This record gives sequence, structure tokens and C-alpha cells, in this order.
Amino acid sequence: MKNVKIKTEKEATNIRGSIVAFNDVSGFRENPRHENCWIYNGRMPMANCWIFIKDDYAEIHNVMVYNPKNRNSGVGSAMIADIRRAFPDHWIWVNTWNCTRKFWSKMVDRGKINFIANDYSWPCINTTCKTCHPNRIVRRRVFS
Ligand SMILES: [Zn+2]
Repeated sequence: MKNVKIKTEKEATNIRGSIVAFNDVSGFRENPRHENCWIYNGRMPMANCWIFIKDDYAEIHNVMVYNPKNRNSGVGSAMIADIRRAFPDHWIWVNTWNCTRKFWSKMVDRGKINFIANDYSWPCINTTCKTCHPNRIVRRRVFS
């Protein structure tokens, strides 16, 4: 087995950027496409999100909970709690869609994030979402 180099997982991830820990919360990787942006994969494969760091502010972006069964099961809030532990002294904030505003208000109440930035209505891109698109006209098929 001489001269056979086996790449450890660590070496493999180092090629694309190391996994970084903030305050002992591990799983952050630099986003190669955006400056000052970290991708948090500490809750993969269930969920992940992006954090933009600017001065004392940390903006949470692109929160994804992948399995619909895991929505409302605490995976999302556990992930946001990780972010809070990683950045205890930052102002953590989000812009939120109408359908996820309830979740984020809860996070504000629990002190997991500091504030929701937008106070205007912001419908999500999913046009079948009834919370964001309540007035969407659904054409019923008429059988004759
Ligand atoms: Zn929506």
C-alpha cells in the first residue's frame, strides 16, 4: 500500500474550503460565491442556511428544511439556536416571507434572533402557498 494516498474526509473538504467552528459550533463553510457569507451545514441532511456577517450583524438567509416531515418539528429552531450559540454577541436578523413570519416571531420571542427587518408583506416565490398568495384565483375545471 506504499504510495497510495488515501484522502481523508478532512483533506477532501479542505479543497473546497475548510469547515470552520465559531464558538465551538462547527459546520460552517465559506460560501465560494459570496463574500462574508458562511454556509451552515451543522444540521445536514435535515436543514441548512446561510449567514452573512457584516460588522456586528449576522443575517440569516436561505433557511431550508429539506424533508417536509421535519418542518415544524424543531429542526429549524434547533438550527437557529446553533447560530445564536455561534454568534452570541451579534445582532442576528432576517427578512421574512409572510408564511415564515410566525416562525421568526417565535425566534425573536425566544431571543434566538434579534429582529425581523421587513415589516411589509413579502409573499414567497411559491405561488401555491396559501399564506402568501391567498387571493390566487384557482380555476376549477368544469365538466359538462
Ligand atoms: Zn409562502
